[in-house]
Amino acid sequence: MTDDLLTCDVLIIGTGIAGATTALELADAGAAVTLITRGEKPHSSNTYLAQGGIIYLGKGDNAALLAEDLQRAGAGHCNPAAVRILAEQGPEAVREVLLKRAGVAFDRDAEGALSLALEGGHSLPRIIHSADATGKSIETALLNALENHPRVTLLTGHTAVDLLTPDHHGRNRLAVYGRRSCVGAYLLDRASGQVKRAIARFTVLATGGLGQIFLRTTNPQGARGDGLAMAYRAGARVINAEFVQFHPTAFYHQGQVHFLVSEAVRGAGARLAHRDGQPFMQNHAPEWKDLAPRDVVARSIHREMLSRGVSNVYLDLRSYIDRAEILSHFPTIRARALGFGVDIAKDLVPVVPAAHYSCGGIWVDEWGRSTVDGLYSVGEVSCTGVHGANRLASASLLEGLVWGRRATSRRSLGPAGKGMPAARAAAGRSRSGVRLRSHYTTPMTFLNGVTRRTARPTRL
Ligand SMILES: Cc1cc2nc3c(=O)[nH]c(=O)nc-3n(C[C@H](O)[C@H](O)[C@H](O)COP(=O)(O)OP(=O)(O)OC[C@H]3O[C@@H](n4cnc5c(N)ncnc54)[C@H](O)[C@@H]3O)c2cc1C
Repeated sequence: MTDDLLTCDVLIIGTGIAGATTALELADAGAAVTLITRGEKPHSSNTYLAQGGIIYLGKGDNAALLAEDLQRAGAGHCNPAAVRILAEQGPEAVREVLLKRAGVAFDRDAEGALSLALEGGHSLPRIIHSADATGKSIETALLNALENHPRVTLLTGHTAVDLLTPDHHGRNRLAVYGRRSCVGAYLLDRASGQVKRAIARFTVLATGGLGQIFLRTTNPQGARGDGLAMAYRAGARVINAEFVQFHPTAFYHQGQVHFLVSEAVRGAGARLAHRDGQPFMQNHAPEWKDLAPRDVVARSIHREMLSRGVSNVYLDLRSYIDRAEILSHFPTIRARALGFGVDIAKDLVPVVPAAHYSCGGIWVDEWGRSTVDGLYSVGEVSCTGVHGANRLASASLLEGLVWGRRATSRRSLGPAGKGMPAARAAAGRSRSGVRLRSHYTTPMTFLNGVTRRTARPTRL
């Protein structure tokens, strides 16, 4: 290894639930893994921000019931094979990786059983959680398991800027006639400004979502769609990219979205209302009301905002949930809202829909393999087809977990990754990113967002 050249068996880009699970499973099985993240701290990710929880197994629950809920939320666009895998293998993945291996501290009831919450679009309570900071518990536990693992090299502050592909970056001009393949990535060391080449037999993109390309989002700074763009440039198949889920309830203060107010709040009984306290979801979805699937709720709020000419609506917890329950179940949300002068136990909580989750992404098969040899993708940046056009609440952490495991199975990367030709050094320099944020976030939100319009933007 030289200063600007790293070589490894498996390069995993992203330390959220998907990348961390892939790394842990591979390392436990004996493979040497290099795990990188652009964040200065390894936990900066969508995963860390997840509030509500992860799907497990409700009382009287079964795979067919969950599959039905996933399909209904996905509006007829789900891949049935992927849905079946998630529904059948989800509970075991939670048990083996999160409960046994990582030891995540999920909430339990007085008898010591896992506490099960209900969320929108689910036909029964099946979501396990750690109060309203489930992602923090999961991410911390996974990173603890990876820390000091003898077969894991973790590099923080390294941004992947492009994938290394022999047909594009190699010296052999005839490579363009072969199959497309990936042999690693260019990494920008953010502290030194140096661009390094990481040569890997296998590269796993686990870079999460792209909410930051919209005006209002619940996603952190790093969720810019980097992985999707890199894969696209490398010639990987990208599908369903138009299916971006807007979360109905992002906390809104002085023209800005600040954080997510979990669906679990409506699961516990809170209702969407106007400033006068009048609830409105019964007018849009009489059967599900406030617990309708996210796209229905987000569109309903959008319509109410347009028809009344208001910039936001409200969540009413105080009229429907016992104060003690608000304080014990939603301490994080309460603390954050208090920072803006809103007490969720006493006041109406201002909310708007915000870009939240990318249902589409890099096409992968049931083992996490993309259409480019040597390139794998797991978690939100990938598209297994589980979510179709709209994700069911608490299904994305589970997808990252299940496909993180599947990508490491014998059929796929295998314990140490077999079968692919050794990577050859590639040369060349990557393009640097261009900041276009202010030019694209507004059109992305208002012309391609919650409600589609046919009109084209007149000014960019
Ligand atoms: C506020 C909020 C609440 C949510 N609540 C829930 C919930 O309750 N239940 C649920 O199931 N889902 C929830 N979700 C969705 C869920 O958290 C995400 O879909 C999931 O965590 C994605 O995991 P991931 O591992 O694919 O990506 P992430 O967790 O986003 O991890 C991506 C990783 O890639 C790194 N990265 C990105 N680009 C680069 C680059 N170019 N180079 C190097 N590293 C890079 C990031 O730094 C990060 O480490 C929530 C999302 C948000 C934003």
